[in-house]
Amino acid sequence: MSTKKIALVTGANKGIGFETVRQLAAKGVTVLLGARDEKRGTEAAEQLKKEGLDVQFLQLDVNNEASQDSAAKFIAEKFGRLDILVNNAGVALDSQVSASQGTLEQWRSTFETNVFSLVSLTQKLLPLVRKSGAGRIVNLSSILGSLTLNSDPNSPIGGWASVTTAYDASKAALNMFTIHLANELKSSSIKVNAAHPGWVKTEMGGQEAPLEIEDGAKTSVELALLANDGPTGGHFHMGQPIPW
Ligand code: NAP
Repeated sequence: MSTKKIALVTGANKGIGFETVRQLAAKGVTVLLGARDEKRGTEAAEQLKKEGLDVQFLQLDVNNEASQDSAAKFIAEKFGRLDILVNNAGVALDSQVSASQGTLEQWRSTFETNVFSLVSLTQKLLPLVRKSGAGRIVNLSSILGSLTLNSDPNSPIGGWASVTTAYDASKAALNMFTIHLANELKSSSIKVNAAHPGWVKTEMGGQEAPLEIEDGAKTSVELALLANDGPTGGHFHMGQPIPW
């Protein structure tokens, strides 16, 4: 059995996920690049393999239970464990939609990907993470999921009326899952944390975002490679805690 760490990053054919795969693999981790589209996923993995990195494409539509099951089966049969799970796949479907205007369809689709699928996939993969000597689960959250900062008119995001209400709520829900799972696993060697990557130049973040993708992946990578005395049950950006 391989002594290298095994990681899965979901939604990794582009953006922060893709760069997270690159940086983890550059640190000697065998990384499964999860993507729902076979062509986009294969091309992304090939690009990183050409850089000499130990990366494999794994078909995974996080919203599809059969796809989750076959990904879990593949990892179980090929590696027998999972050391790092980065729940990165996410959608933002209600940009500039106020709380009074968001449609239930936007809310349901947002929660489906950002919350329900993440919970389901994590539960399915947890037996494999338990087989790691030092499992790490990283959930891609956002400062926009912070109740504290949204409700503080003096914070950088406080008092915004017309933003991404369903998206923000989905990240707040994901934060709660993070806290409870971390509490449940406290006596184990597994650490569960939420990551705020920053406002990053990706398809989701847009070109006006201040952070380059290389920096946007740093928080996920840091939390994925936490030492045994590192934190669990927190929300971080570049090593600094973000209020819930
Ligand atoms: P992005 O460029 O839009 O990439 C999102 C990734 O998620 C894509 O690979 C997409 O795949 C994948 N995805 C969506 N639904 C999926 C599904 N059902 N199954 C599998 N993959 C799926 O976004 P990003 O900026 O890199 O964001 C990554 C994470 O960081 C998200 O969770 C986001 O909420 C969070 N975040 C981003 C920012 C920012 O400023 N960019 C800030 C805070 C938090 P396709 O290419 O197939 O659509």
